[in-house]
Amino acid sequence: MRRLPLLALLPALVLAGAAVPLSAQTVDTAGAGALIDQAMHHSEVMPNLEHLSDIIGPRLSGSAAMRRANDWTAERFKSYGLQTHLEAYPFGVTWSRGPATLMLQMPFTREMVAHSWAWTAGTGGKTVTGAVVRINGGQDSLAANLPKVKGAWVMLNEPARIWNPDGPAMTAADSAAVQAARQQQVALFQKIRDDTTGQLLKELQQFNYDRAFRLKAAGALGLLTDGGKEEGLMTMSGSPNGVSPLPNLVIAHEDYAMLARILAQGVTPRVSGRVENTLGTRPVEQYNTVAEIRGSEEPGEVVILGGHLDSWDLGTGTTDNGAGAMAVLEAARIVAQSGLKPKRTIRFVLFSGEEEGLLGSKAYAAQRAAEADSIQAVMVLDNGTGMITGQALQGRPEFAKLWTDLLAPVSSLGATKVRDANKGGTDHLSFLPYGVPGFNYDQESRGYNHTHHSQVDTYDHAVAADLQQASAVMAVTAFELANLDALLPRGPKKAVPPTVPLRPSSGLAAR
Ligand SMILES: [Zn+2]
Repeated sequence: MRRLPLLALLPALVLAGAAVPLSAQTVDTAGAGALIDQAMHHSEVMPNLEHLSDIIGPRLSGSAAMRRANDWTAERFKSYGLQTHLEAYPFGVTWSRGPATLMLQMPFTREMVAHSWAWTAGTGGKTVTGAVVRINGGQDSLAANLPKVKGAWVMLNEPARIWNPDGPAMTAADSAAVQAARQQQVALFQKIRDDTTGQLLKELQQFNYDRAFRLKAAGALGLLTDGGKEEGLMTMSGSPNGVSPLPNLVIAHEDYAMLARILAQGVTPRVSGRVENTLGTRPVEQYNTVAEIRGSEEPGEVVILGGHLDSWDLGTGTTDNGAGAMAVLEAARIVAQSGLKPKRTIRFVLFSGEEEGLLGSKAYAAQRAAEADSIQAVMVLDNGTGMITGQALQGRPEFAKLWTDLLAPVSSLGATKVRDANKGGTDHLSFLPYGVPGFNYDQESRGYNHTHHSQVDTYDHAVAADLQQASAVMAVTAFELANLDALLPRGPKKAVPPTVPLRPSSGLAAR
């Protein structure tokens, strides 16, 4: 990655547009009616999402399908009359999923559904059979437990706390137990957040990364990971910046919990697994699809609507984040075909590499660091197929009135709530260190916690009316921001450490 240009480190004093105070800015809602009409009566969001989901399919960054999605979206933008191109950035090594099979051999024989965690190794074409062991693999305990993993498939965690969805509701005591367990996690997060040096997080990441190397060196066959959701739904992730030499199979929560119960009975289960994944041999580039409608008065000032086009590959990436990406494409169509001319440029960016660590948006923001002060705002849609309910202010409470005003023309569509909250986990975060106001719209969940990163992230979960609404809200708010009197005040700026692939600590890789 590149070094941070000096300009991005300057204090937030020398701002273009700072002459007009925020309180004096008025939102011009003229045009909203035409945009809403385009969104609600001429929508193309569903056919586009169907094509992306069912014909292009899952879009794992680095795959041929990802490139097809980049090319196809560029074509779609062009067909709506936008200038468009692909922008490259260094991604890392590719990874592709091969078949994975897992059989329970003891105490009875049964096939288990298993999916590889991404950027993990296979078993080298062999079926490997061994005991299942569960160890505490935490920083204090791993070393002492390494002798137990030789020739074994290893579980590192307690089963996730998944409430039986068909059972009675939780009692107060059940909720308290869940809360108490969650508090431990929160305490750890808090500790990491409070460590302004970032050292604690770095150490934890390195430890977690090294653990696979240490387990492998100690003779472990692979990891078994809890799918973490009810009804057999999976959750997986992974990154070229954390390539693992050890197979890691995600299995249904119900199977993971069963293995834990068998172990608790004093019986050692045995499983045999075979995994064939392919890791690329050298780093490749990936691409963001970028399109824009040039501003009529201030073309150098830019409002960005964004969403990630890449997906995981167990389903077809409809809700995470085909829905958001197609709403961005649709917002472009809406503005372009409404005939309205924004004063500032509206840019539409479909990022890749989001799932591997916001890689596409981080690269994009770094490449534009020198222009960051002319980016009016970045708004991202990435919480599923649900309608937009409002906006989270992302640490900028002074924008409460502004967002209330921006949403006024779409309040009748249900986008009304402005709340002081910070949202994590998606591409708007990549712009915040440059002082750019960045937001991730709040949405109805519509089962997003079930579908995302799972094998049922498919087109039948898409909600047409919601996506029309979301496209309308995005188009209207982007257009209003493009026509605002002046640029918004910047947020605090921070240096951005480069993203580099983790390497095993000295002595580990060679073993
Ligand atoms: Zn996503």
